[in-house]
Amino acid sequence: MWLLLLVVACNRNPYRTTNKSYKKQVKAFAKQLRQQPPQDVNGAPFWAGTTNFNLRKPNLVIIHHTAQNSCDETLKTFTQPSTQVSAHYVICKDGTVHHMLNDYLRAWHGGVARWGNLTDINSSSIGIELDNNGFEPFTEPQINSLLILLDTLKTKYNIPTANFIGHADIAPTRKVDPNVFFPWKILADKGFGLWYDDTTNLVVPESFNNVEALRIIGYDVHDSTAAIAAFKRKWEGQDSSNVLFDVDRKILFTLYQKYQ
Ligand SMILES: [Zn+2]
Repeated sequence: MWLLLLVVACNRNPYRTTNKSYKKQVKAFAKQLRQQPPQDVNGAPFWAGTTNFNLRKPNLVIIHHTAQNSCDETLKTFTQPSTQVSAHYVICKDGTVHHMLNDYLRAWHGGVARWGNLTDINSSSIGIELDNNGFEPFTEPQINSLLILLDTLKTKYNIPTANFIGHADIAPTRKVDPNVFFPWKILADKGFGLWYDDTTNLVVPESFNNVEALRIIGYDVHDSTAAIAAFKRKWEGQDSSNVLFDVDRKILFTLYQKYQ
């Protein structure tokens, strides 16, 4: 009998208490959705609800590294109200995917951020966190799981190829994730994010403006040095470099043409 109880106790979901809180919060939002718009705005004599609508959907995917030491640590972090941070998905080093939040709900992963003219990134994006301490390569099972997930999200929500980006892209002054080891080219080859063309015989026009190009790609260029560092980390695998030489300008030029 005691052994049976012990087995039952061990198999219990360690997140059963916070899962209750999840369900309670979803119920409250569902209640909001059921509310009709007020009928008496500006004297309308009756309410005419449209018959044509659906749910808003994500249009961007933001990839992060957790900067923590294990998946368990991150699951705990994302289930403690005091941290005020979360993501839709957490992918562990062994390839396990934890889907922590319904894609239609808003996770708190972007923080103060900007991409193009979008400033409320959390409202329009899916956040994916990869278990990684910030200084190590990502594992093969982790990237494989990520690629499968990205494929599902791209198809389901019709997310544009260019809209698979990193946290450092939308917050270059504050963030460096995913770190310099992240295989952006492997992603781009599969249709998640853009990659540059061969630059061998390329001549960049004298008038080409680096900062303007970074802005067109989507970077917030108020701090252009930070944007350059993010660009070089992502497309050239160079950390801690914020100077654009000729070779970098060529890469930037071919990318900028893709974003035109
Ligand atoms: Zn992040």
